[in-house]
Parts: sequence; C-alpha cells; structure tokens
Amino acid sequence: MRSFSYQRASDPQAALQALAVTAAATTPLTEASSQPLAGGTTLIDLMKLDVMRPERLVDINPLAGNWAQVDLDGGNLKLGALAHMSQVAGHAEVRQNYPVIADSLKLAASPQLRNMATLGGNVLQRTRCSYFRDVSYAECNKRNPGSGCAAMDGFNRMHAVLGTSHQCIATYPGDFAQALIALDAAIEITSKSGPRSMSFAEFHRAPGDTPAIETVLAPGELISGFAIDGRWPRSVYLKVRDRQSYEFALASAAVALDLQNGVINDARLALGGVATVPWRAREAEAVLKGQKLDDALAERAADAAFADARGRQHNAFKIALGKRVVAHALKKAIAMEI
Ligand SMILES: Cc1cc2nc3c(=O)[nH]c(=O)nc-3n(C[C@H](O)[C@H](O)[C@H](O)COP(=O)(O)OP(=O)(O)OC[C@H]3O[C@@H](n4cnc5c(N)ncnc54)[C@H](O)[C@@H]3O)c2cc1C
Ligand code: SF4
Repeated sequence: MRSFSYQRASDPQAALQALAVTAAATTPLTEASSQPLAGGTTLIDLMKLDVMRPERLVDINPLAGNWAQVDLDGGNLKLGALAHMSQVAGHAEVRQNYPVIADSLKLAASPQLRNMATLGGNVLQRTRCSYFRDVSYAECNKRNPGSGCAAMDGFNRMHAVLGTSHQCIATYPGDFAQALIALDAAIEITSKSGPRSMSFAEFHRAPGDTPAIETVLAPGELISGFAIDGRWPRSVYLKVRDRQSYEFALASAAVALDLQNGVINDARLALGGVATVPWRAREAEAVLKGQKLDDALAERAADAAFADARGRQHNAFKIALGKRVVAHALKKAIAMEI
C-alpha cells in the first residue's frame, strides 16, 4: 500500500477546504488525489489493491453529528450520508414505512461491514469486476482509460446485460441505490459553492466512452444525505445471489407500488446486478400503471424491463433470471398486507 496523509475534518467547511486543495474540475472523482474517508470499506480495500491511489484522506466521520440522522418528519424521510447501513436497516420506522430500503441494506455485505459502512460511501462503491480490481491486468478502460476491456472476451459471468458500452460492461454492485431509485429519492450534495439537490436517478453515469467517470459528483464535493417524499410501505427488495449471505447480486429488483382498489396507480422498478448503473426500468413501469397485477402482466413487465438486454458468453443467463426476479418481486409487493 502506498503512503498517504490523513486529515480529520472538524466540520463540513474544513472537509471541503481539505478536499479542494488538489481537485481539478476535469479530474475523474475516483482519481482525485484527496478522497473523503467514511467507513473505508471500499476505499481502503481498493488502496490496498493499488487500484485507488489517493495522496490524502480526509476523514469525514466527525461530521456524523449532523450527517448521520434518520428522520421521518411529516411523512418524508431524510437519511444522512454518514448513517451506517446497520443503523438504517434496523430502524423501526424505516422497516415499517420503507421495507425496500431496510431490506436492500440488510441483504448487503456482512454485519461487520454494515456496522462500518455509510450510506454515502455505499452509493459510491465501485464495481467488483475482477479485471478492474486486479492491477496485473493492463486492459481495463475504467482503471486505465484507453487500454481496452479484458472482460469483453474474458470471464464475464458477473457482468452487465443492460447499459453496457463498447468500452465497459462492468456491473454496478450495490443494493441500496436500487431502493433509492424505486422511491424516486433525491441526493443532497455540498460543495464550496453551497448545497444542491438532484434526482438520485441522475446521479450515476453509464460507462459510454468514459467508464472512469461513474457519477456526476465532482472532486471536492460531498454527499450530505438523501430525501424521500411520502411513505412507501408497499415496497420490496428481492435479491438473488450465488449464496444466501455475504454475496453481491446476480439479479435484484426494488419495487415500490401505490395500489388503489387493487389497481396499480403508481409503480417504480429498479434493477440491480444486471446493469452498469442502478437501473430504472421505466418501460416496465409503463406496462404496470393502471392495471391489476396477474401472472401475465408480471411477465409482460419483466419482458419490457429486459427488452434491450444484451448477454455475452457467460452472463446471458442473467436475462432469464432477472425477468423471474422482477415478476416475483411484483407479486410479493402485491401480496403484502398493509
Ligand atoms: C466483502 C464485501 C462485500 C460487500 N457486499 C456488498 C453487498 O452485497 N451489497 C452492497 O450494496 N455493498 C456491498 N459491499 C460494499 C459496501 O456496502 C461498501 O463498501 C460500503 O457501503 C461503502 O461505505 P463506506 O462508508 O465504507 O465508504 P468508503 O470506503 O469510506 O468510501 C467509498 C467511496 O466513497 C467516497 N465517500 C464516502 N462518503 C462520502 C461522502 N459522504 N461524500 C462524498 N464521497 C464520499 C470515498 O471517498 C470513497 O471513494 C461489500 C463490501 C465488501 C468489502
Ligand atoms: S468491464 Fe469495465 S471495469 Fe471490467 S475490465 Fe472492462 S473496462 Fe474494466
């Protein structure tokens, strides 16, 4: 592991100041020489692997006093970026009103990791593509722009079938982001020019020609929290993986439904494990709205969700699997007793 300097930020301004020192607007966030340190479960891991090489870590944990809240005020939910995954997964009101959030967090990683890891760090976790994580492979456009992609013709069983480009087919590995998308959440960002808020669905960037740029967050900016309007008790997170715990998704679905007299008034659906970014399945949502769910409708929605999917040598199974996960998650959401 390379040497780095460590600085503890006493407040948001001090953190922004420390991060701004070496941040140029054109530098991909992940290449910035100063990086915020939250739980460290992604960042330190990737530094040990020599994939990320920051010169300075700015510890933002002292900001937890204001940035770790879980607030269900007036029927809207606020989640601080420094709240721990375990804290939110176990929160009684979150479990009751937003089961999709609680389950997406509970089904992720391990208890020890969930105790360390924060929500802000979670949405910035990086792909588990083994060619990306192993620097002995020269070909990786995400890690080494312009070098090629070893996964295209390599072992690509875990890779994406949606949102891929000719440059990168790496899967976005997280679970919580799909829940945020299904709930139409906003993400709150703080920078030296002040706070801003945007739709979380616009936060991640598909690889396109620049796979090294993964989100719209710029160097020197911080995530302060997430906001969700309304309560979504009829919401579900379903995750299928190679083993039942401590494993990333092969395919997952986050579903939030608003039912009126058995008819789907509003439907939000996000997919995980199958796409390069947390994937909102708008075509499937359109199929569902104004309808009563039965097996045929669930299958039509699942087909719509994967209409543009492209499988490769080892991952084509994800298309059939993903469709089954979507149909099953929809039926589970409908069957919930609210
Ligand atoms: C073995 C293992 C298994 C895992 N399994 C799963 C799984 O099944 N599902 C899943 O969803 N996740 C899984 N994870 C990922 C884990 O959830 C993330 O590593 C964790 O959530 C990251 O949070 P952190 O606070 O530790 O982030 P850090 O490692 O501290 O930070 C991650 C990145 O985000 C930046 N950052 C952190 N906070 C902020 C902020 N507030 N503003 C701006 N930038 C910030 C850091 O600079 C860094 O670049 C797994 C991880 C491991 C190691
Ligand atoms: S899929 Fe993306 S991350 Fe993996 S080797 Fe190819 S370019 Fe790198």
